[in-house]
Amino acid sequence: MQVYDQLYINGIWAPAQSGNSIRVSNPANNEIIAEVATASIDQVNEAVDAAHQAFPEWSETPAEERSRLIKAIANLMMERRQQLAHVICEELGMPLKFCEPVQVVGPAQGMGSYASRAQRMDLVEKIGAVQVVREPIGVCALITPWNYPLHQIVGKCAPALAAGCTMVLKPSEITPLNAILFAEILDEVGVPKGVFNLIQGMGTPVGEALLQNSKVDMVSFTGSTPAGVRISELAAATVKRVCLELGGKSPFIITEGLPDLSTAVKYGVKDVLINSGQTCTALTRMLVHESDYDEAVQLAQQFAEGYKVGNPLESDTFLGPMSSCLQQQRVRDAIQTGLNEGARLVTGGLDLPAHLEAGAYICPTIFADVDNSMRIAREEIFGPVLCIMRYRDEAHAIEIANDSDYGLSSAVWSNNNDDAVRIAKRIRAGLVHVNGGQFSYEAPFGGYKKSGNGREWGDAGLDEYVETKAILF
Ligand code: NAD
Repeated sequence: MQVYDQLYINGIWAPAQSGNSIRVSNPANNEIIAEVATASIDQVNEAVDAAHQAFPEWSETPAEERSRLIKAIANLMMERRQQLAHVICEELGMPLKFCEPVQVVGPAQGMGSYASRAQRMDLVEKIGAVQVVREPIGVCALITPWNYPLHQIVGKCAPALAAGCTMVLKPSEITPLNAILFAEILDEVGVPKGVFNLIQGMGTPVGEALLQNSKVDMVSFTGSTPAGVRISELAAATVKRVCLELGGKSPFIITEGLPDLSTAVKYGVKDVLINSGQTCTALTRMLVHESDYDEAVQLAQQFAEGYKVGNPLESDTFLGPMSSCLQQQRVRDAIQTGLNEGARLVTGGLDLPAHLEAGAYICPTIFADVDNSMRIAREEIFGPVLCIMRYRDEAHAIEIANDSDYGLSSAVWSNNNDDAVRIAKRIRAGLVHVNGGQFSYEAPFGGYKKSGNGREWGDAGLDEYVETKAILF
């Protein structure tokens, strides 16, 4: 077992002083792999002070220099991709073969995409005699979850660095190890002291102390909706900017009479099962026209049963364990709720084959005959659980799609581009994937409704960290 007893504050690895620590387990076998010491409240405030002191100089650093450092971070992430992928596989449980491309190479590219965006801070807009200039907002508190841990960290740190902000990162207590490697990379490439600080700990007290500090100008939070609400309330006392990236219950409308129904259903099933369903954008509500419904359910069952659940180190594994026993229990409770509500269990469920009993596993689970008023259709499950629902016509499909507290992602599959775009425009969500369109690091990412109010990635991701100033001649 590894012991990490230091935090990265003001450019130095300093001993953690709370006297408490987090035990990190490997959810594939529930063995403790590391102990990570947590920050005291004084150290949270020290980290904010360091970021506050570093801000004037860093915010004036020329864009080319910020850009150079961002490129160097991206390059070193790529060099260390195997080490990062192994650590994420161990602490999260995602199969190793996916960890490298999805959890490390993608984020390294995402980091690199901000190198050229640093220059956008120098843009000046002229409106008559007025000049509008862009300035970094200041000290940022960055609080991240465990499901795509490095991706979430980069989604906040990269634009903050590009904008000229300074920051304190508090990663998830479930996956704190990749954040330590990330801090080592920033240290090694020479990010000036105080610009980036890493503290470890639980949401309460460490996260809450961080976001309530009066020297923090902005909080960027990715996580569950209830935590986002609490964070907004606490941050309101000091009128901070709060960017929230929260949960989802995303719909996938499969239009009527597709000749390639099988391709569409396969895409939908795979989307829900990747990372064992622990994806905020997962298309967990599949909406199928009543004339295609029975065939779609059969296809979904066949595809789901074809994906192997098991050891994340084996090359043919598609679903590793859930991130923790707690998460496994939450998903089991949700499956039980679906059974109690009378949804039809098509495959999966509560039982596990004997060889999976030692880890936090859940088998791919499909419910058919789900009504959109059921809890399994309304609440985020965050596990490999798909609900398939019937619709009568396009208007009905859109009505069900929008009848949700959430609005993060969505998808449409259609043979006709005009139909797809018409439907896409009517869905109240920040993302619509058409015919399997993929995530892009260049596009804005974020939610409507209870899925949040922020945007990450692309130019919109940078703008979150910017104040605009009007200079009136
Ligand atoms: P979580 O809300 O439990 O925790 C997220 C982070 O917030 C952790 O670092 C945690 O320590 C911290 N935290 C929790 N309560 C806090 C508080 N009161 N004050 C300060 N910090 C606090 O979420 P999770 O279980 O880590 O992640 C899963 C959730 O994240 C899901 O709901 C998922 O949909 C959501 N998510 C959203 C996106 C997105 O971009 N919209 C991306 C990934 C995950």
